[in-house]
Amino acid sequence: MRAVRIAVAAFALAALSTLAPVGAMADPLLAYGARIAGDDARTRIVIDMDRAPTFSVHYLDNPVRVVIDLPATAFGFPARDLKPVGLFKDIRYGTMDEDSARIVLTATKPVKLVMAKVQADESGKGQRLVLDAEMLPTAQFADLVKQQSWTNDDTARDVGPVVPLDKPDPSAFLVAVDAGHGGIDAGATGSDGVTQEKEITLAFARLFADKLNAQPGIKAFLTRDKDEYLSLSQRVTVARQNHASLFISLHADTLKQKDIRGATVYTISDKASDKLAGEVADRENNSDQLAGADTQAQPAAVADILMDLTRRETQAFSISLAQDVLTSFNGQIATINNPHRHAGFRVLQAPDVPSILLELGFLSNKEDEKLLLDPAWREKLADRLTQAVKQYRTSIVANGG
Ligand SMILES: [Zn+2]
Repeated sequence: MRAVRIAVAAFALAALSTLAPVGAMADPLLAYGARIAGDDARTRIVIDMDRAPTFSVHYLDNPVRVVIDLPATAFGFPARDLKPVGLFKDIRYGTMDEDSARIVLTATKPVKLVMAKVQADESGKGQRLVLDAEMLPTAQFADLVKQQSWTNDDTARDVGPVVPLDKPDPSAFLVAVDAGHGGIDAGATGSDGVTQEKEITLAFARLFADKLNAQPGIKAFLTRDKDEYLSLSQRVTVARQNHASLFISLHADTLKQKDIRGATVYTISDKASDKLAGEVADRENNSDQLAGADTQAQPAAVADILMDLTRRETQAFSISLAQDVLTSFNGQIATINNPHRHAGFRVLQAPDVPSILLELGFLSNKEDEKLLLDPAWREKLADRLTQAVKQYRTSIVANGG
């Protein structure tokens, strides 16, 4: 119904514009500045204009393209300011005819603009066209291409978030279970050179997700369910797109000190709690370089107090989850000394999803490796973690969260 109404409204607009007297064309818009930033999961483009444009957004496949149609526009910024990065591998813009201009963004993978809007700049004199793109599952992109209407005027329309992969029960508590590493990034290797971290984490992630899904009111999903490479930002984006209430990243790394063993729970912080935590975070963050993923920083954050508050609140929840995990381990799952540590893990950066990274054990330790490969121990660990998630959820509900 909604789509029909939009189409009718757009038709009415189109009819009006054809009635405009010939020769009444205003000067073209001036696009005098542009910026692009982001990575292979999310990319933002900002175009500075002398006044607010109307615009519409469309999608084309083979190759994946986002097309932004504008009224007549003079593009006055240097091409290097809109050099393709992140999700985009080619960017073109120019005049279509005397009344219209077009920007064509060719993407490296299926994408959707989750935000496309015009807003006043800080001076209040100029306007900005802000386009936020996020990666999208292939099937959803195909639907997007099929369902779009070419008569839309998107200027005043919220283009909306990416649709969850699975329409969740709105009351369900959603847990993103992230199997560390994958694909060309094998992670750590056991002492025999055979056991691979990426296999340990995926096998355990599946078991853990099954246990969570057996709980009433809890629904778990995997960020990857096969041996594939995902950048750290993609893992975070998958969790956020699916409205995860929690993000749990699973690992089994190696340390130089082979006698160290036991589980560790990490939360994010700017400064590492200790040398070991800093080293582990450096190695995990290295996953992106290893696979050649674009690790350019996120779009420069405008000072955003609300986002800061969200971050702080999320941080408190993450710490509370870490404590619930350690409580559930008590006397059952061995941990290292000071088992709650923190460091700058890039995979824990979602500002609005409480996140922990769990080292199940260390592949550099023979005893730990044996446990990591032991089905009975994995069962016990998955049961304990499920208990921790249940406890966390109960305390959130009790606190009205
Ligand atoms: Zn790892």
